[in-house]
Amino acid sequence: MKVVLRNLTKKFPNRNKKGADVIAVNDFSLEIPDGKLIGLLGSSGCGKSTTLNLISGLEKPTSGKIFFGEDDVTELPPEQRGVGLVFQNYALYPHLTVRQNILFPLQNLKGEQKLSKAEMEKRALEAASLVQIDALMDRRPSELSGGQQQRVAIARALVKMPKVLLLDEPLSNLDARLRLQTREEIRRIQRETGITTVFVTHDQDEAMSISDLIVIMDAGVINQVGKPQEVYDNPVNLFVAKFLGTPGINLFRGRVEKEMLWIGGEAVLPVKGSIDQAVTVGIRPEGFLLNTRGAFSCALDRVEVMGRDTSVVSHHREALADTIRSIISADNIVDSAASIVRFDLKPNKVFLFDPETSRRIPVASDRKEG
Ligand code: ADP
Ligand code: MG
Repeated sequence: MKVVLRNLTKKFPNRNKKGADVIAVNDFSLEIPDGKLIGLLGSSGCGKSTTLNLISGLEKPTSGKIFFGEDDVTELPPEQRGVGLVFQNYALYPHLTVRQNILFPLQNLKGEQKLSKAEMEKRALEAASLVQIDALMDRRPSELSGGQQQRVAIARALVKMPKVLLLDEPLSNLDARLRLQTREEIRRIQRETGITTVFVTHDQDEAMSISDLIVIMDAGVINQVGKPQEVYDNPVNLFVAKFLGTPGINLFRGRVEKEMLWIGGEAVLPVKGSIDQAVTVGIRPEGFLLNTRGAFSCALDRVEVMGRDTSVVSHHREALADTIRSIISADNIVDSAASIVRFDLKPNKVFLFDPETSRRIPVASDRKEG
């Protein structure tokens, strides 16, 4: 089921009566292709849950429209939209068994949708098998791990065969290892069922690893939509560049003069087609190449060997943070006793931003992904 959000805005009245309304979602337009998994990514309070609640019908938009396929569902109540919902806190009924929890949404179906007991059992077992909890059907939630409880919640959302699956930070209550495992599971289930899915998270790693498309949100507004790698390789602004990648992008004050990028007193990279101006320079950690005669020199703090890679920690007078992290192949030998480390820069890993607007400044050598 394709989902189209058109100019959605949601305002909440300010609790402090004199204050202005809170604009949780601001003129949000997005087309979610049929059968895809969309990662809705942004920091806490940016409007992710509100967007999800607008899609499910739990919240009504102040303005704008929502379409499921060709149907305008903006005025439709949640139970008529055919959505499955999963929240961070699994919200299972503690006094019911796993089986009863999963059956619960089916028992309330009325009229034409009403199912026989045998059909309900069959559907519940199918949903349970899909999330691999079919051996736990007679347990109660208190007898399950967090990961298992979240699987029950997913099975309960799937049992009604929703047209759209909405997941609001479903992994946040799980420990690190389970989080990794469960996100792979969600990916598998989504592929097997082909249900159009919106996955909300503040964790960029999570969103990058399982999404077909990521949507990066800030203060109720979409900043960028694209395939995870495309967005990483081509951030439209400083916010997006900073949000993606671990370790994060390194930032410097710089300037363009006669198509040359300068950081401090060093000409570090030719930048064709850029006009002379002050810039904020972003360099991905993997954008540094060790070279004893490299154009860019940093003051070396320490070298951390991490198996496959080596992390060089340094600092620079023009850097916006206290430390610079560069990741280089462990094949390189870094003299950790040296006080200066020199680099060449990989042009496709260096981004320029307008210090006033934070927008990306195009450089002629920027290559667009085909
Ligand atoms: P996220 O899920 O990204 O953390 P939310 O969608 O929950 O963000 O919230 C977005 C903004 O809207 C926040 O500023 C939040 O305080 C505000 N907000 C959300 N729900 C309500 C509400 N029911 N009443 C008033 N303000 C709300
Ligand atoms: Mg939220």
